[in-house]
Amino acid sequence: MSDASDLPVDEPVGTPGHAVRTLADVNEDALLAEILPVFATGPAALLGPGDDTAVLATTGGSVIATTDTMVRDRDWRDAWSSGRDVGAKVVAQNLADIAAMGGRPTGVLVTVVADPATTVEWVLEVTRGIAAACQESHVAVLGGDLSSAPPGTLMVSITALGSLDGRPPVLRRGARPGDVVAVCGTLGLAAAGWRLLESGREDEDTQAVALQRCPCPPLAQGPLAATAGATSMLDLSDGLLRDATRVARASGVRLALDGSALAPDIRRITPVLGPDLARECVLAGGEEHALLATFPCGIRLPAGWRALGVVEQGDGVTIDGVAEKPRGWDHFSP
Ligand SMILES: [Mg+2]
Repeated sequence: MSDASDLPVDEPVGTPGHAVRTLADVNEDALLAEILPVFATGPAALLGPGDDTAVLATTGGSVIATTDTMVRDRDWRDAWSSGRDVGAKVVAQNLADIAAMGGRPTGVLVTVVADPATTVEWVLEVTRGIAAACQESHVAVLGGDLSSAPPGTLMVSITALGSLDGRPPVLRRGARPGDVVAVCGTLGLAAAGWRLLESGREDEDTQAVALQRCPCPPLAQGPLAATAGATSMLDLSDGLLRDATRVARASGVRLALDGSALAPDIRRITPVLGPDLARECVLAGGEEHALLATFPCGIRLPAGWRALGVVEQGDGVTIDGVAEKPRGWDHFSP
């Protein structure tokens, strides 16, 4: 086995005269010696990678925790997304969950499970994507795990930890009749980007395609919404209707959305996909990671939030009074 220091790490993969290194060509310690220096440990990490666990400082007496995984050919395609995109996306998905509780992310743990035929360069690209996304949010990379997998398998998983800074968590079950339903972020663009990539039309809406490759959740808005009094909140990972239905069910209420509030989002996508598909993207498109919350009636919504409707007695989700099925992304059924 080669030592990592002997290898041409600065050469592009596939450069003539340089063999492409795969994970089978390096041992785990040599791979870690390339990965770990890419990560910043951040202010909350009292002890970073290297021992059996990291040590993370806490404030407020509680830690919030979540995990999210991406699997090749289920959650990304190599033809569409670079390793860097995948790394940044799996961080964004996790940090959006922390924000949706009203929390501030403090640290992440990273697991990569890979076929030994995976190139070292791909793993380093994922590392760089994770490192950049974490650095942007001042989040420590605390450590993780590397494991080998059967041919073809490639998976990147993150466990994110966060702090509520002494506030109570904002749950899905707190919406009350009379509350205002509001969103922060875009709707349907990531799904539109998926459809454009799928049909080879990625040049037609670069913003939508970029958001499909890597979402841009409004992370700072989670704690701001909590401070402003949000009664319930989640991030839109599986589609507006499916996620809004989760809030409705958990809270025992109806979310009555206003079609005119969604019209600008639909109009935004209509030029590239037509009105019907644009509506479907806005209502059922996953992976957007905008924040959906309810706020008590009469409070001023925080800057960046816009009203989508009201909370009523009843159940389910309606648009202009018409009941909508909770369609959207589901991992195990179409
Ligand atoms: Mg979520």
